[in-house]
Amino acid sequence: MSKAKSGYNVFKNDEDVRLLIKSVVGDEGFEIVKHLFDIEKADEFEIADKLDRDVNFVRSVMYKMYTHNLVNYTRRRDPEKGWYIYTWELVPEKIYNALIDKKKERLDSLFQKVENEQSREQGFHCPSCSINLEFPKALELNFSCFACSGMLQPLDNHIRIDDLNTEIKGLSEKIGLLQNKLNGL
Ligand SMILES: [Zn+2]
Repeated sequence: MSKAKSGYNVFKNDEDVRLLIKSVVGDEGFEIVKHLFDIEKADEFEIADKLDRDVNFVRSVMYKMYTHNLVNYTRRRDPEKGWYIYTWELVPEKIYNALIDKKKERLDSLFQKVENEQSREQGFHCPSCSINLEFPKALELNFSCFACSGMLQPLDNHIRIDDLNTEIKGLSEKIGLLQNKLNGL
């Protein structure tokens, strides 16, 4: 990763990136992580000093980022005090991959929904009474409504399938864009 690359600037200003980080550490925590946007890595005491925050707060925020696999750390033992000092490093690749994974999960569930809609047996409904019936029941009634004797109409789920496909297309494009941003880092 190089800060000089334009891809990194795209990353820093990416709304999806900000939303993902905020969803993990909240608005207050985001201020801590944002500090790393400009310096890439720093130990938690440096960050706490710079932002005038408690070091435990900084560590808890960065640890949350770590459990979501969005940052790396190295640690060293303080020779005088004997405790560990953690140096945290922001990893844009991990953040983009997390975003892509989330969108791919959503994409899988959309494909599943389309499949369900396509395999569903077509139903019928009465437009005047807003009654829906399964095919065998409609057949039994000779396709006339039991309430008003009006003609039953086939229920069309093509609109729903079209909507799902539109969402799939949009999401696929979004994944492609994220992949480009990842490659541009
Ligand atoms: Zn009816």
